[in-house]
Amino acid sequence: MRKKLFVTQEVGSLQRPYWLQRFGEQLDKKTLDSAVEWGKRLGVDEANELVNDSGHGLLQKSASLITTADKERVKEIASIYAIRMQESAGLDRIFNGEQTRTEMYSFMANYINGMSRAGVLNAFDANYFIKGVIDDNVSIRESGIHFFVKELGFTKSQTKREVKTCLTGSYTMADWSYLEHYIYGHEASCMSKALSLRKGREAAVMDFATEVLNPVVRELEKSGAKFIQIDEPAAATDEGESGLFVHALNASFEGLSQEVGRAVHLCYSDYSKLFPELAECKADSYLIEFTNHSSPDKFRESDVDPNTFKMLSLFKEHGMNAKIGVGVVDIHSDAIESPEKIRDEIMVVSKILGDPSLVEVNPDCGLRTRRPEIAYAKLQNMVKGAELARREYGE
Ligand SMILES: [Zn+2]
Repeated sequence: MRKKLFVTQEVGSLQRPYWLQRFGEQLDKKTLDSAVEWGKRLGVDEANELVNDSGHGLLQKSASLITTADKERVKEIASIYAIRMQESAGLDRIFNGEQTRTEMYSFMANYINGMSRAGVLNAFDANYFIKGVIDDNVSIRESGIHFFVKELGFTKSQTKREVKTCLTGSYTMADWSYLEHYIYGHEASCMSKALSLRKGREAAVMDFATEVLNPVVRELEKSGAKFIQIDEPAAATDEGESGLFVHALNASFEGLSQEVGRAVHLCYSDYSKLFPELAECKADSYLIEFTNHSSPDKFRESDVDPNTFKMLSLFKEHGMNAKIGVGVVDIHSDAIESPEKIRDEIMVVSKILGDPSLVEVNPDCGLRTRRPEIAYAKLQNMVKGAELARREYGE
């Protein structure tokens, strides 16, 4: 059977509802009403556990009575809302919208031995983070593996669709940290400052790959993971490290069977700089931002950003045969892209890559920046746009 063209998915995370962000505080009527309303809209049976007529719903509890189990349950129910939203929008591959997590860096750092000061931040949907200090060799904690396995298990129990897990990549984790331990270790062996910095970064990135990411990835596969996405927003920070970046990604995916999809998400940078090294990467899909400043209704071939065009052409030139997830939804704007515009973007990328079966569809990055009405409308149109594009290919 031919595989479905233009598979759709969200790519980063969805906004955590206000009632989850503020759980434990006195929530006002408006917040409770919105939990009820969205629960109805998305068909979430568990919404009744949050707010009910008896007044004993989780969101109605006074702060002093809230238990750890209540906090966990509220996160689970928020995950169900996120799953239902993606199902109802019609997405093919889904996850829990990262409702159980906070920010991609600090959250991950909480589960890593050898990091300090990171993780004190437990802000709500923070776009900032406290940079962690690495003061010993890094490795994943048992509790970290447990967290990801449990998260996957819960998502799988809630949906029949294909499920994915997203992880913050080793290069980004290292790049966003103070690498004291790794750099001083090399300085002690009398290298020049520049060389010890380079060697220190190399060692840290590879340790994050082999001692943090890879053990998680392997355990996820054992628990039935079929698709793992590694997020690398820092990927193109230093052109001279493209080889290191690719080497670390391959080490992170090491040992996975061919049945598990391995994706990398790249956004908001010129990723054509990662070539030619990226051609050696063993990921089989790249979910990329495709931001353009054309109107939300129209798209022409000439609207393709030159760097993006270059990057897509490089994938083709190197015969990488990897899937490209095209970012067709702008996460920084409330304007809802029309299905026709989305269709045209998909068609243009199919043409550049010379093969529509290599094209998948996603937002530029996580829709966490948009409130639920907007995120939902954008995802719905994304699915409609993919359907229109399939029609063009007679599907
Ligand atoms: Zn992103």
